[in-house]
Amino acid sequence: MRALVLDRPGPVGTDPLVLRTVPDPVPRAGELLLRVAACAVCRTDLQIATGDLAARRLPIVPGHQAVGVVESVGSDVAGWQAGDRAGVTWLAGYDGTCRFCRLGRENLCPSATFTGWDRDGGFAERMTVRADVAVRLPGGLDALEAAPLLCGGVIGYRALRLSGIQPGGRLGLYGFGASALQAIQVARHWGCEVHVASRSRADLVRAEAFGAASVGPYDEAPPAPLDAAITFAPVGSVVIAALRALDRGGTVVVNAIHLDGIPAFDYEKLWWERVIRSVANVTRSDALEYLELASAIPIRTEVEAFPLADGNAALGRLDRGEIAGAAVLLMDR
Ligand SMILES: [Zn+2]
Ligand SMILES: [Zn+2]
Repeated sequence: MRALVLDRPGPVGTDPLVLRTVPDPVPRAGELLLRVAACAVCRTDLQIATGDLAARRLPIVPGHQAVGVVESVGSDVAGWQAGDRAGVTWLAGYDGTCRFCRLGRENLCPSATFTGWDRDGGFAERMTVRADVAVRLPGGLDALEAAPLLCGGVIGYRALRLSGIQPGGRLGLYGFGASALQAIQVARHWGCEVHVASRSRADLVRAEAFGAASVGPYDEAPPAPLDAAITFAPVGSVVIAALRALDRGGTVVVNAIHLDGIPAFDYEKLWWERVIRSVANVTRSDALEYLELASAIPIRTEVEAFPLADGNAALGRLDRGEIAGAAVLLMDR
C-alpha cells in the first residue's frame, strides 16, 4: 500500500512526509483493518511533522481523522465485520483499568496512546485501529464530510459540554478556526447567542455568516456578559480576555494542547465562582454523540481535498493559514 511516512521531523518546506510503498498492516487481536477513504489533516499532524510536538515513534504514519471501510477483523473482535464503515480519532488506546477509564474518562488515562503519534495513522491506504476506539459512522455522512468532524469537531463538542453552556445561553468563541467553525453550528442549533472574537477580519466575517450575534477583537468586551467561553487560540492573554467577558458562575474552557503561559490577573476576575479549565483529548462516546449530532444538524464543513501524494502541500497550506475549513487527503486519487 502507499503511505505518507515521517522518518524525521523537519520544516514544512523540506517535505518531511515521504510517499512510500510499504507492506499492508495486519490487524492484531482486538483490531480492525481499514481501507482508508479519507483522512483530514489536523494542526497536530503539522506539529508532529515539523517536530513542534516531539515524535514518540519514528518512522510513523501521521493522521488521526480517518474514515474507512473495515476490510478484515482480528481475533477477539465482536460487533464489527468486513464492509462496516468506521472512523478513527486521536485516541488510539487506553488501559481500561485505571480510575479514569473506569469512570468513562479514558481521555485522561495515563496509559493512553494516540493515533499517528504512538501508532500509524490514516495518511495511508490502509491502517489498523483498536476495535474499542473505532467509531461507527451514521449513514448520512460521506467520507469527505465525516473526516473533519473526527478531531476538531469532536473536541469542540467536548469543550461545549465542559463549558456547561445551556440552550439559549450566551457563549463566547475566542479564535475561529476549523474547530470553532463546527462549535458555532452546534451552539446555534442549541439556540445559543454566540459572540466570536478573533484578530482575523476574514474570520469575523465568516463568523457572522455562521450566525454570530456579535464579533470583535479579543480585547473588546462582548455586548453582554457570557455564560461560558471557549478559547481556541494557543495564547494565554486570550484566556484572560475570555475570563474578563464572563458573567458570574461562568466557565472558560481552554481548547489548546500548549499555551504560552497565562498572564497574572486580579483575583476579582475569577471571584463569583468563575472557572478556568482545559479540555484534553476525546472519549469514544464524545465521538459517537458528536457524529450523530453533526449528521442531524447537519454540520457544514468547508473542505479542501488533496490526493495522498500531496500531503506535504496540504501541511504547507495549513501552516500558512490558507485553509478556510479543513484539508482532507483522499486515498483514491
Ligand atoms: Zn487533531
Ligand atoms: Zn486508563
